[in-house]
Amino acid sequence: MTASFVTVAYLGATILFILCLGGLSNQETSRRGNLYGIVGMTIAVLATVFGPQVMTAGLPYIIGAMLVGAVIGMYAARVVQMTQMPELVALMHSLVGLAAVLVGYANFIDPAVTVGLTPAENTIHEIEMYVGVLIGAITFSGSLIAFGKLAGKIGGKPMLLPARHWLNLAGLIAVIWFGYRFVAAHGVAEAMLPMLVMTVIALLFGVHMVMAIGGADMPVVVSMLNSYSGWAAAATGFMLSNDLLIVVGALVGSSGAILSYIMCNAMNRNFVSVIAGGFGSDGGAPKAAGGSAAPEGEVTPISAVETAEMLKEAKEVIIVPGYGMAVAQAQHTVHDITQALRERGVNVRFGIHPVAGRMPGHMNVLLAEAKVPYDIVFEMDELNEDFPNADVAMVIGANDIVNPAAQEDPTSPIAGMPVLEVWKAKHSIVMKRSMASGYAGVDNPLFYKDNNRMLFGDAKKMLDEVLVALKA
Ligand code: NDP
Repeated sequence: MTASFVTVAYLGATILFILCLGGLSNQETSRRGNLYGIVGMTIAVLATVFGPQVMTAGLPYIIGAMLVGAVIGMYAARVVQMTQMPELVALMHSLVGLAAVLVGYANFIDPAVTVGLTPAENTIHEIEMYVGVLIGAITFSGSLIAFGKLAGKIGGKPMLLPARHWLNLAGLIAVIWFGYRFVAAHGVAEAMLPMLVMTVIALLFGVHMVMAIGGADMPVVVSMLNSYSGWAAAATGFMLSNDLLIVVGALVGSSGAILSYIMCNAMNRNFVSVIAGGFGSDGGAPKAAGGSAAPEGEVTPISAVETAEMLKEAKEVIIVPGYGMAVAQAQHTVHDITQALRERGVNVRFGIHPVAGRMPGHMNVLLAEAKVPYDIVFEMDELNEDFPNADVAMVIGANDIVNPAAQEDPTSPIAGMPVLEVWKAKHSIVMKRSMASGYAGVDNPLFYKDNNRMLFGDAKKMLDEVLVALKA
């Protein structure tokens, strides 16, 4: 493949990646967006592998490695549970970081790379390598820690070292100093020490940065590491003089940063505080996943049959799904109940919180899988003021995203987080197995409201019973 053909292929792939991101921003176009991404990546890989930069002798190694990678990737994609997606994503980001580090070192020790460069070009290339390895190493170790925290292998509590900000500052100064030594060094042997020291500092910084962040803020961190992995890829693109990698890295880097910002807003977290770590760790800190707070007051249980009766009498029903629906895999029964109610003339709508579940868009994916029509699925902001008109608000395995304490209790760890105002409906029914708290580890006053009923049990099992009673 000639160089000009490769350039055209890269241009086509870049356009496809932009269309991909555009498509993924809406659930109706997301399949098409995904397809654009797959085609774009296929073109990019083929153009690179068969382009002039790869020697024919190297092809068997590249194809062999790609086959091994494809088999591992396909296996991982098949076995991973939807609820484990953030962990998988964190693990993949670590690989992008590792790749940037390895490419940086390979570039650094390969004498052929600098042949024919002017001194100024050489300095720029050295800075590219240094920065590429720096970002890559932070992304690598940070993502591994994020994976450990999400998978429950490392505790969710923030690890706050004394004078941690000073430690970070000292690390930054050392990295700049060793960067100067790296650029000023003559030859690989002399530059190796500053490069190695910087890599160790960057790895420790990645560990320290993510260890200092509490479990409740992990989603934002994963999205932020997604952004870092994009910048690491862009840095790799500069090292390899690969325009496509620079553009794609910048697309991933900026979209990850925008997503982090949106998630921070949805969780009412201050972005800088999340990154600085230890946010909310004094007093009412959000607990790690699985924590529970002492219940207060009395709750009124309801049976599946009574729930079905209530739904039958309703004209307006709003369903709010959460993490528990994903755990129970209840989305197909939810679809069947929706259909049964709609056939009876009930207006059923879904209210989706931006951080419902364990990853952005989690509920949309599940509802789309169950073929719930898109036009009855609404964002939180589109639906929140309609709750007073709803006869029944049915909460399926959600907790934090419907917690009135976010509005009513300024001392709550989730104070200020925007929530779906289900308690304003004429009746609400919360479906969950016990009185346990949700991800943020705080009690939910919704459960004790006079107009609320609790349907205790696994969401799938309970909804199956509701469906049977509905059809009876
Ligand atoms: P929550 O984690 O607040 O609550 C989920 C509830 O589901 C639990 O209280 C649990 O109660 C119940 N549940 C679990 N399994 C089942 C089951 N099989 N059947 C019925 N109920 C079940 O989830 P939400 O969706 O309300 O809120 C999401 C939370 O996760 C937010 O705090 C958000 O910040 C955070 N987060 C969001 C991410 C994202 O990007 N979307 C990523 C990571 C975290 P019980 O045990 O009693 O059944």
